[in-house]
Amino acid sequence: MSLLYIYDDIFKQHETDDHPETKFRLDWINAGIEHCSFRDKLVIKKPIKAKREDLLRVHPESHIKRIEEASIREIKALDADTVICKNSFEVALYAAGAGILASDEIMKGNFKRAFIAARPPGHHAETNKPMGFCLFNNVAITAKYLQAKHQIKKILILDWDVHHGNGTEEIFYEDHSVYYISLHQYPHYPGTGASNENGRDTGKGYNRNFPMKIHSGDKEYLEVFNNEIVPIVQNFGPDFILISAGFDAHARDFLSGINLSSEVYGEFTKIIMESTPSFKGRIISYLEGGYEPQGLTEGVLYHMRALCN
Ligand SMILES: [Zn+2]
Repeated sequence: MSLLYIYDDIFKQHETDDHPETKFRLDWINAGIEHCSFRDKLVIKKPIKAKREDLLRVHPESHIKRIEEASIREIKALDADTVICKNSFEVALYAAGAGILASDEIMKGNFKRAFIAARPPGHHAETNKPMGFCLFNNVAITAKYLQAKHQIKKILILDWDVHHGNGTEEIFYEDHSVYYISLHQYPHYPGTGASNENGRDTGKGYNRNFPMKIHSGDKEYLEVFNNEIVPIVQNFGPDFILISAGFDAHARDFLSGINLSSEVYGEFTKIIMESTPSFKGRIISYLEGGYEPQGLTEGVLYHMRALCN
């Protein structure tokens, strides 16, 4: 089956100098894709730009304005980690719009699954706070778009970036229509993601964190996938799955102390795809972190190869 791959060189115009979240991450991935065994299964499309109304389903006008003005004024950083340049606002609109294009393409029946190699990443961006290299929460904007425009009822967001997706958790913490699951090194940046953060009010029971000890590897992660995550997916019965695909839990990555192999990202993908017979198989996967060239590239390739099947 063909896999929609959304990419555009515009994502490299978010300039971050010597920051680990560099534009070269996308070159590493694309160099790997050029020579991969499933190249003929990929259909490459350029992203569209998210509209104001798409952002406003997640972020208030004050948040959008803050990023827009910081870009215009070329304020170099929004916080100690979150670098910005004059193009960043524009680029971030395309990063968010990529998920909207993927949603439309999948809902038209043109594809079942998509992988998006966009930056800036999104999962640390809260309703009213850019942080941790993230400006807009791309995955959350996609989830809200699927619900508003395509009447998708139940969405599951799986986040295997090594850092807890505090932004995604916060945005859907009181929402039972979006189930957020995160596996992450704990304790670690950003400090959230304890196992007792389970949601609030009607969202209670629709947020699950799996804090992983430093030096955990494939075995510990696969146990969580098979014993915990598969039953959650089966019970929840999502109409659509979004993946916050970070590759910074790779053993080679220098921003974490988790020791995953490259191959295991294919395993994770396969387990999720096969997790329930009623699941319609619709997946949009968004690149989040992953900072070491070989670990990032190999992890992405194993993940994408599994998405093609
Ligand atoms: Zn990360």
